[in-house]
Amino acid sequence: MEYRGVDENSIFEELREYAKKNVPYERVLSSMCTTPHPIAVKVQKEFIVSNLGDPKLFPGTADIEHKCIEMLGSLLHLPSAVGYITTGGTESNIQAMRTAIQIKIKKGGFDRSKANIIIPESAHYSFDKAAQLLGLELRKAATDSSMRADPDSMAKLVDDNTVAMVAVAGTTEFGQVDPIPEIGKLALDLGIYLHVDAAFGGFVIPFLDDPSRYKFDFEVPGVMSITIDPHKMGLSTIPSGSLLYRSDYYLKVLEINAQYLTSQVQSSLAGTRSGASAAGTYAVMRHLGREGYREIVSGCMKNTWLLYDSLTSLGLEPAMDPVLNIVTFIMPDAQSVRRRLCDRNWYVSTTTRPSALRMVVMPHVTEEVIRSFVSDLKDVL
Ligand code: PLP
Repeated sequence: MEYRGVDENSIFEELREYAKKNVPYERVLSSMCTTPHPIAVKVQKEFIVSNLGDPKLFPGTADIEHKCIEMLGSLLHLPSAVGYITTGGTESNIQAMRTAIQIKIKKGGFDRSKANIIIPESAHYSFDKAAQLLGLELRKAATDSSMRADPDSMAKLVDDNTVAMVAVAGTTEFGQVDPIPEIGKLALDLGIYLHVDAAFGGFVIPFLDDPSRYKFDFEVPGVMSITIDPHKMGLSTIPSGSLLYRSDYYLKVLEINAQYLTSQVQSSLAGTRSGASAAGTYAVMRHLGREGYREIVSGCMKNTWLLYDSLTSLGLEPAMDPVLNIVTFIMPDAQSVRRRLCDRNWYVSTTTRPSALRMVVMPHVTEEVIRSFVSDLKDVL
């Protein structure tokens, strides 16, 4: 930092130059984030000073956070669910695993040094981070030919030191939904904590034409906690994640004494937390309502099939039929195709097993974007 400060206009000019380097979302088919809804952006400024880490100082903002959790709970079939706004799926997943450990410790009768969690091999890498941070052995269960977690494979990995099982509603790579009712039954039978990672799918599945096709939330017996991210398909601003629990017992086991705070205790992972994220999330959920999200998801699914049909008619082979708004096409040289697309300022990602090109059809991936992308992909191939 220099000794003398710089005037505001110059700073804005400097920052605009930096912003120009960023890729506009219209060229991005690799991300699960998108341009946030304008109302989420607009309300942030009014709550920028709020710190949800000290809720007794900001009771109004804390009320907003409770309302967010209530709305999310009702979306996930449990209006009485408790939880909080996190920084995103990673924090929510880490916290869920921390909760499971605390519960197992309370129950007693296990070897903490051998604690393990069972996740499908399709689970997000945030569970690798959770395992490293919390000193857990990560056991990865097989997935079936349609990339869904195999409950039998999960069952085989369970032992007395298993603290949690994880199922995914909307996998990062393929957008697949695990057989959560079967996994829930297994978890109940074995008395194991089940966490559902619906970071992506949580704001998609309830708004599909036939949402009852995929049961993934608190209506499934055995599901104890759910990750659902407003900053992905919820169209809120970054960072806005959320973690919901079946009852407040789960938040209680996380409580840490925090005497210098007005609340005296804290359950969240982060200390100081953004009230602006909660306000943005509240605003966009209230503004869109279920009807608004249904329209957005319906548009994304229409465009998902447009992209799927366009690539199929190029003679490409889909890795699977889309379940959510993610399209994957088998491509042995996916990495090199990705690089060549990147040279044309298109951003897609790849999967490893099978090797495929992966495209997420977020709301910014419009019909026009798809037509222009397909035309360039044709050239690249
Ligand atoms: N879980 C799933 C299924 C995801 O797809 C992602 C991110 O893509 C995460 C967790 C992590 O979310 P975040 O990047 O917000 O921490």
